[in-house]
Amino acid sequence: MMAANLIPYSPSFGGGWGEAIHQYMKTHLKIARPDAHPEVFYSVQGEGKNLGQPSIFVRTALCNLHCIWCDTDYTWNWKGTRFTHIRDAEPDYEKFDIKEVVAELPVEAVAGLVRQYPCKNVVLTGGEPMMQQEGLLALMEALGEGFWFEIETNGTLIPEPVFDARIGQYNVSPKLANSNNPQKLREKPRPIVSLLRAPRLCLNL
Ligand code: SF4
Repeated sequence: MMAANLIPYSPSFGGGWGEAIHQYMKTHLKIARPDAHPEVFYSVQGEGKNLGQPSIFVRTALCNLHCIWCDTDYTWNWKGTRFTHIRDAEPDYEKFDIKEVVAELPVEAVAGLVRQYPCKNVVLTGGEPMMQQEGLLALMEALGEGFWFEIETNGTLIPEPVFDARIGQYNVSPKLANSNNPQKLREKPRPIVSLLRAPRLCLNL
């Protein structure tokens, strides 16, 4: 099954807008940019089976959930959104300007940011990185052999087989009622069952 966010390729798209959008999603990534720099950084993995492993983190923008206590709120709590964050009530807090906190970058530019670090372990995180499977697949292909990829996901989207084939580890963090997301959004049986079948799963509860 296609993940809900992916635009399925159809020859009927011809050379129209659908095909143009499809091509764009394959060649560009929306990366979080909370402080004027795309959030691609070198650190130590703090969760999952690879806890303590030096890794390069690629933080994608966009999320299909809107947890009220989210600590990467700049990936979705933008001006004009209908969703709320617990910090909205604070006098010194403002929702983010999407033009400032989201960088739309060609895949090759993101690959260049990854290659600047002396490390081959890459953590795809967000936001919800599975919303950008096509661009992330292109990133993994651009980086080539020798890199190892893990992904941090909320478990509500199904990986495409070609995407899944490149992922060495899934760190899945299902969201509970205290996230303030409607149950029908945060509990998606088919993606969870699909991910539970993956032998490379680490469930964070
Ligand atoms: S799923 Fe993760 S990134 Fe998305 S809103 Fe919740 S905590 Fe934030």
